[in-house]
Amino acid sequence: MSDIDGRAVAKALRAEVAAEAARLRSEGVAPTLAVVVPTDDEGTAWYVRSIKKAAEKEGLDCRIEHLKEPDKDAITAKLRELSGDDSVHGVICQTPLPEGVSLGEVGWYIDPMKDVDGANPESLGRLAQGRRTFAPATAAAVLELLGREDLVLEGAKAVVVGRSNVVGKPAALLLLNESATVTVCHSRTKDLAAVCREADVLVAAVGRAGMIGADFVKPGATVIDVGTNPTEDGGLVGDVDYAAVAEVAGRLTPVPGGVGPVTTALLLRHTVTAAELSKTRD
Ligand code: NAP
Repeated sequence: MSDIDGRAVAKALRAEVAAEAARLRSEGVAPTLAVVVPTDDEGTAWYVRSIKKAAEKEGLDCRIEHLKEPDKDAITAKLRELSGDDSVHGVICQTPLPEGVSLGEVGWYIDPMKDVDGANPESLGRLAQGRRTFAPATAAAVLELLGREDLVLEGAKAVVVGRSNVVGKPAALLLLNESATVTVCHSRTKDLAAVCREADVLVAAVGRAGMIGADFVKPGATVIDVGTNPTEDGGLVGDVDYAAVAEVAGRLTPVPGGVGPVTTALLLRHTVTAAELSKTRD
């Protein structure tokens, strides 16, 4: 079994982003990402700081927009404002959102040209049609990791466990757009392990620590673990039982060090792409 090294992929991507950002700056465009933060959650604050640090390291500007009274109106007003601000190229709305507010409903207020984390339902629709758009960065990271492996997705059997609008569905659509034969599983799927054992490529995006065991994996399969589950000692584990699955899989992403760093790198790449596209917008 070989580990798929997300940190190495992220490093390569970020070097490309830094070069693009430097080129844009030399042309008078400062690529800028704005992050709307409608929560005081400490875990979220840590994640947002890490995005800002990564952005600034690669030559992007990053604006953090904390909302003091984060109701739906305040969130949509801020997203509208940033969407209309020519100095901002990428806009993301950090979750968790206040109770009763969904990303789908506020996502409409992010201009699709700036929707670098695919939160606008229009972006998901474009993805479903195989049209050019920004996919949610985590789903895009799954495909980025697979694309760098010696692996043929065309005709391969892919199983995605999880059907959220931010990870499972867009990952399934991206795999379908690569002509894989895709099955999407969820909490009502019967005999999940047997369905997963059919997969040449298995993507776990559930949010349940270690639930994908060796009996879910076909020998030699490629397994991408999107799950990030905090442990009591402050660590992080995936949805895959790493030690058990490593005995069976051909390739496997670790947690941490797999999908996570590539997700951050792709947010930056999408922002630089959005900045480039903004030059030809009237
Ligand atoms: P989510 O919105 O909670 O969706 C979880 C999905 O898993 C749902 O579709 C649910 O099915 C399914 N599920 C739950 N229990 C199941 C079970 N026992 N068997 C089969 N399916 C089951 O979560 P998410 O936002 O997609 O995130 C998934 C995981 O990815 C989380 O651990 C999250 O922290 C992680 N994540 C990582 C990154 C990264 O950058 N690495 C980014 C985003 C998310 P139903 O639809 O039937 O309820």
